[in-house]
Amino acid sequence: MQTIFSKIIAGEIPCEKIYEDENVFAFLDSNPVNPGHALVIPKQWSEGLLDAKEETLHQVISAVQKVAQAIKQATGADGINIIQNGGEAAGQKVFHLHFHVIPRFSDDGFQHWHGKGYTSPEQRKEIAEKIRQVL
Ligand code: AMP
Repeated sequence: MQTIFSKIIAGEIPCEKIYEDENVFAFLDSNPVNPGHALVIPKQWSEGLLDAKEETLHQVISAVQKVAQAIKQATGADGINIIQNGGEAAGQKVFHLHFHVIPRFSDDGFQHWHGKGYTSPEQRKEIAEKIRQVL
């Protein structure tokens, strides 16, 4: 499956590469939340995390840790967000598995979303039971 990210891996579209090994590629996001915001992607295509091979996930998450450590040190960030948008409804725009590694600063002004809570304890039990049944 060809996406803009396969073209970046192939060198057909320029990027600011920060890391590459046999299985993984990482480069700066062109529209960063904060400077140093990077994307870590497996070379092996999958649409997202849910359809990726386990081996691919091991390779990519290990690179995410390495890249996150480097970004934290290089930018002097106070914290790091690792974000993986899965599906259009969750904000995914490029359908090639990628992890956002975002350096965060105590004063950068971004806020996390606010939780909705549950309407009742029963609602919480019911959804937990449905998930357990699938697992
Ligand atoms: P997502 O919404 O999780 O699919 O994120 C896709 C990300 O890819 C966005 O943050 C974009 O800014 C980034 N992006 C898209 N095209 C490029 C590109 N050519 N070079 C670097 N980053 C890109």
